Amino acid sequence: MDEFSFIQSIQQTYYRQPSLIKGVGDDAAVIRPTGEDIVIAKDMFVENVHFNRRTMTPYHIGYKALAANLSDLAAMGARPAFYLVGISISNDWTKEELADIYNGMKYLADRYKVDLIGGDTVSGKELVISITVMGLTNKDNSRLRSSAREGDIVFVTGTLGDSQAGLHLLLNPNTTIHTDEQYFKERHQLPNPRVKFSLDLQEINRVALNDISDGIASEAHEIAEASKVGLVLIEDKLPIHPALNQFDAELQYRWKLFGGEDYELLGTVSPRDWELVKQSAERHQVPITEIGYVTDDSGKVFLQKENGKMERLEKKGYNHLSR
Ligand code: ADP
Ligand code: MG
Repeated sequence: MDEFSFIQSIQQTYYRQPSLIKGVGDDAAVIRPTGEDIVIAKDMFVENVHFNRRTMTPYHIGYKALAANLSDLAAMGARPAFYLVGISISNDWTKEELADIYNGMKYLADRYKVDLIGGDTVSGKELVISITVMGLTNKDNSRLRSSAREGDIVFVTGTLGDSQAGLHLLLNPNTTIHTDEQYFKERHQLPNPRVKFSLDLQEINRVALNDISDGIASEAHEIAEASKVGLVLIEDKLPIHPALNQFDAELQYRWKLFGGEDYELLGTVSPRDWELVKQSAERHQVPITEIGYVTDDSGKVFLQKENGKMERLEKKGYNHLSR
């Protein structure tokens, strides 16, 4: 298959976004701004760095690449609208596998009504996927990391450490656990970006959000630094899936604090608005947990232990160190 029939094969037959003037097929796409703020993000995925063929099918690779990008939009409170895909392909990938990569992306694109409006196709040694997503927010309504204030509640969606548990199972096929093996693997391969929950927070004036791509310790530092506040995370309250306790206590600890790729949302909000956040989570069946509070200790993150002792948390993301 040549480049041109490939591009033909991935084109959408119709577009959903009304602000799109020209999608795939010219030198560039054309969008007519509608007065909302435009939010743009890019995330790249490189074979044998971010994924490999042993742990991820082509479908998973495409799905997860777009999921990570949509998660960035969720962390900004933006409504996803468009994406562009730059792809470098080696000869090892068959036509069917390439189609499956795009099928993985298409699943999420359909679900969130995001249009594929362009990209670039080249050949190279390894598979590289570079996605750019564009979303829209109401004017000045982006959920910035710099919005946390002293006295806020710290919350997190979902459960922590699942993706790393899944990766561990995929990399060590001889490890067997009694229950939920498939659950953990799928949390690694098919993460669920919290797009709808985040959009539903719009009536709240101020929420700081960050998505968990590198581990909660790292994301908490990003909020603390950007907002010049301190974050205290209460160890007992960090939500984990009940089946995670089948793993070593040391692994559980590392995964929940420093394991990445859960694509859950970490946030802070004034106690006054916490009830509204919980209601949005409930409407979208997203588990949500209050896990700590914000102090004036600029740039620092502490873990409050069971005995009340405060332990300074490092910023390191377990994920990148382990690769
Ligand atoms: P040009 O040579 O002008 O850069 P291309 O032949 O690279 O044009 O691309 C033609 C059209 O197909 C453009 O609209 C481009 O955005 C789109 N396109 C190319 N590769 C991809 C891809 N991998 N995914 C989505 N759209 C793509
Ligand atoms: Mg081009």
